[in-house]
Amino acid sequence: FSLDLLPSKNGKELTNYFLRQVVDVLLHYIKKTFDVKSKILDFHHPHQLLEGLDGFSLELPDHPESLEQLLVDCTDTLKYGVKTGHPRFFNQLSSGLDMIGLAGEWLTATANTNMFTYEIAPVFTVMETIVLKKMYEIIGWKETEADGLFSPAIGGSISNLYGILVARYKQYPEIKTKGMTALPHIVLFVSEQGHYSVKKAAAILGIGTDNVIEVKCDERGRMIPAELEKNIAQAKRKGQTPFFVSTTAGTTVYGAFDPLCDIADICEKHKLWMHVDAAWGGGLLLSRSHSYKLRGIERANSVTWNPHKLMGAPLQCSAILIQEKDLLEACNQMRAGYLFQPDKLYNVEFDTGDKTIQCGQHIEFFLFWVMYSSSGTYGFEAQINKHMELAKYFYKVLKERDNFKLVFDAEPEFTNVCFWYLPPRLKHIPKGFERDQELQKIAPKIKALMIEEGSAMISYQPCGDKVNFFRMVFSNPATTQTDVDYLIEEIERLGKDL
Ligand SMILES: *Cc1c(COP(=O)(O)O)cnc(C)c1O
Repeated sequence: FSLDLLPSKNGKELTNYFLRQVVDVLLHYIKKTFDVKSKILDFHHPHQLLEGLDGFSLELPDHPESLEQLLVDCTDTLKYGVKTGHPRFFNQLSSGLDMIGLAGEWLTATANTNMFTYEIAPVFTVMETIVLKKMYEIIGWKETEADGLFSPAIGGSISNLYGILVARYKQYPEIKTKGMTALPHIVLFVSEQGHYSVKKAAAILGIGTDNVIEVKCDERGRMIPAELEKNIAQAKRKGQTPFFVSTTAGTTVYGAFDPLCDIADICEKHKLWMHVDAAWGGGLLLSRSHSYKLRGIERANSVTWNPHKLMGAPLQCSAILIQEKDLLEACNQMRAGYLFQPDKLYNVEFDTGDKTIQCGQHIEFFLFWVMYSSSGTYGFEAQINKHMELAKYFYKVLKERDNFKLVFDAEPEFTNVCFWYLPPRLKHIPKGFERDQELQKIAPKIKALMIEEGSAMISYQPCGDKVNFFRMVFSNPATTQTDVDYLIEEIERLGKDL
């Protein structure tokens, strides 16, 4: 058991043997992941997993298991999971399995240190400032006026929470000691297509979801600036105090970009904090041909950006970037004397742990640093442009097929392409309530069949008055045109008799 593996206790041979075996297990999995002929998953129901599958039990034993058994368990854990790096995995905005990022993860796991102080993470804390500096530069901020952190172990939702937290503190520093009772009735704005994490953050922060005002979108899912103006005026008339606008650069379902410049004007006029949730779309800043879609982001007070989505970094890797120095720390600092000793004689400016809302922190950014070193800005650009090309291709193919119907009959703005599949039976029912009722059931059915077969994975959802439709997204570097063609054929094969 674990202690026998300590290299210091005659365990050197065993350690080498065990870890090499583990690497073999992982390499085997990686090989399968990139083999289009292998299934994305070998689907089982929860009760089957709980009961145990041949030789694989999830129960925790009282007596140590053998290393051989552990290797079998490791193999099976991967075997019954989902290969999110498979070229036909389109289910999430985060997909793909980047070899360099993976190596980065291995390295941080092996280092097994904590991000909070320079003293225990000297290289990592300094290196993080370099990565953040690069991100400010890409957004168009001056380093001297910017601050940020990688939301440890949690991702874009928490980055959004940080945005609201810091904005509220900036406006009402007394919140930190007095709580919400010291504040007027504050409200914030997000578009109806914005990510649900904004509402969740409002709930967590004691603002309340009723005080998140949803701004109407245009037909493509972009916030309408005039509607925002209207909502702000309305809130003020009701005696509420607007303080924050969350815009979205790359909405989760439609991939829409809010008009950031117009919204920045409104925020300036009303003195509101402007946040850009670029969790999904942030990577597009690296593409010289597409970055104009985020024009205005340089005027934001804060930005959420997830390299683990469009840029293909392994989970989790998300940054919150603030266009003001020292605010993060002022907002969250508790000065725990046992950890952030003020009389430390070295480099306390790199003790960044008190900027966060937690104590211990996993190292998130390193995998991104290695990926960046390996790809360079231009490598990311080429990859992202390829995703955009594939989205365009997918759109064009669907447009020519009369059994597929696009949710938007215009070229995609981003890599999201939303569509319905219409089985022949439904093609002759005129558009309307009756057809919608049937159509609502088609995507879940096709999805279930697809999962059982393990042939591909794609997500679906209803949205507003639109019944269940598929959302295709491109963020998986392993995906090729052949996989796109395959997906279309597969949906047709599984759906034609429904
Ligand atoms: C995915 C996403 C988030 C949440 O990011 P997580 O890392 O999953 O928490 C927030 N906003 C948008 C627009 C997203 O697409």
